Amino acid sequence: MTYLITGGAGFIGSHLAEALLAKNHSVTVIDDLSTGSIRNIQHLKENKRFKYVIDSVMNKSLLSELVDDCQTVFHLAAAVGVKLIVESPVRTIETNIRGTENVLECANKKRRKVILTSTSEVYGKGVQIPFREDGDLLLGSTDKGRWSYACSKAIDEFLALAYWKEKKLPVVIVRLFNTVGPKQTGQYGMVVPTFVKQALLGHPITVYGNGKQRRCFTHVKDAVTALIALAESPKAVGQVFNIGNLEEISIEALARLVKEMTASKSAIQKVPYDKAYEAGFEDMSRRVPDISKIRRAIGYRPKHGLRDILNDVIGYSRNGVPI
Ligand code: UDP
Repeated sequence: MTYLITGGAGFIGSHLAEALLAKNHSVTVIDDLSTGSIRNIQHLKENKRFKYVIDSVMNKSLLSELVDDCQTVFHLAAAVGVKLIVESPVRTIETNIRGTENVLECANKKRRKVILTSTSEVYGKGVQIPFREDGDLLLGSTDKGRWSYACSKAIDEFLALAYWKEKKLPVVIVRLFNTVGPKQTGQYGMVVPTFVKQALLGHPITVYGNGKQRRCFTHVKDAVTALIALAESPKAVGQVFNIGNLEEISIEALARLVKEMTASKSAIQKVPYDKAYEAGFEDMSRRVPDISKIRRAIGYRPKHGLRDILNDVIGYSRNGVPI
């Protein structure tokens, strides 16, 4: 099979490219390097089944050609990271909505399958834990920049499902829950690479808010295995799936764990949300996936626990690779 990965030089996209190549598939990546990096795909360049194009999914004529040449599209190109989203809302909304419109339109012309990566952020402030794919989405008001990300991704999901219902374009939608692992950068605010870097450098570990908010972290390897299995499953078409891990930890406890695992002398410092992001910033206190649907569909069971994940991230960062 030939796969096209939009955003393939990003953190998840590059792991996905590597896994597909290891399964003897051919992979083409399109990435504008806005948040991705050539360094992520450097080691793939010598593989004859690997191609990459540095351009944007906004370039529709090019995108259309690349879609022509593949059988399935993994659409990962998007604005990512809460910090980036709060700081650059126009870019977030435009990239996420127009990019997806272009991908779906091109895929529909050539009848190519699309795996659309959405996010657990769409559940917003929902309180019915764990989050089920058919549950309600509860977003905050439009003057709070953070919600533009969830809203733009929800529109992407609506559009993909509309293509499926109206035009029978095969689409699969996944909602990724706090995916972490080696190669993720802390530059756009993600907590695990940020804490690991702070701990290794002996800088204060910055816990936002009161630190009682909890998250479930998924190893990128588990996420990639699930993405590929869903792409290969005819039954998954036209459906939405959570991809996540059930092990929950508070951000305060995460800071302590990172400090312990790196044997760091860093202080743990609380930073108010309005200083970390913007005035009136809203965080969600819990975000736990219901993974029974994906388990039924492809037998998904995450293999990597939090300590595993942190070991991998710490090992990667210790080897002098900038994060
Ligand atoms: N966070 C933190 N310190 C940081 C970065 C993030 O305490 O330096 C918190 C953030 O406010 C959130 C959680 O860690 O409650 C996870 O943040 P991330 O941006 O990784 O993902 P999110 O779950 O917000 O999409």
